[in-house]
Amino acid sequence: MGPPSAVAAVIFDWGGTLTPWMDIDGLGLLRKVAAAALGKPADTDSAEVDRLAIALFEAEERQWALARTEHRSGTINATLQQAGVARTEAALDAWYREMEPYTFADPDAFDLLTELRRREIKVGILSNTGFPRDWHERIFARDGLLELIDGAVYTSEIPWVKPHREAFVAAMNAVGVSDPATVVFVGDRPFDDIHGAKAARMRAVLVPHSRIPDTQRGHTDGEPDAVIQRLADLIDVLDAWTGEPPARSG
Ligand SMILES: [Mg+2]
Repeated sequence: MGPPSAVAAVIFDWGGTLTPWMDIDGLGLLRKVAAAALGKPADTDSAEVDRLAIALFEAEERQWALARTEHRSGTINATLQQAGVARTEAALDAWYREMEPYTFADPDAFDLLTELRRREIKVGILSNTGFPRDWHERIFARDGLLELIDGAVYTSEIPWVKPHREAFVAAMNAVGVSDPATVVFVGDRPFDDIHGAKAARMRAVLVPHSRIPDTQRGHTDGEPDAVIQRLADLIDVLDAWTGEPPARSG
């Protein structure tokens, strides 16, 4: 370990990091989106719903492939268009509703972000996501986190996804920090998050509890500077890096 060095910002991934990983039945979820898009009840079992759900699933898979190989971003609106969905509003409402159970913040998140801000460390978000900003902000506001975030980049708003360097630069800009050596990135994906952050010259911390599908893994697993089993453990990692004495009561 090198000499103590300042941490100006901590930038977090979202899914699997600030929000615990949950396995999602993607095709099952898209079947409900498809039913809504066709103006049918969510549990409709028909060939028409199946066809549209599979078209949505394949559009999503193409997007994952572009993200993995070319680091290009996409949006769920583009996915709906590619699948030929006409009733976009109904589909989007259903998509949000079906996703919401998987979006609740990790129980450590509020206290961790509060402590970072108490230390005057900027809090950032960099999420590979097809969802629009207002969905993410609605989710963070629901969990009391929105006002603790200094800047967020949702890749649905930029051309690139992690691990592309431009995504990390955009996130640094969002929190007003210019030196990546003062940034700590926290994420759950060895390629997108850890390899990407290291290539952008940040320090990288892995939260290793996600079951990433093989089709979403990249060509390189980055080597994290630290691994934490829960978010609250980040404070001890920062203390070790910045030379702070551990703050313990008792
Ligand atoms: Mg993640």
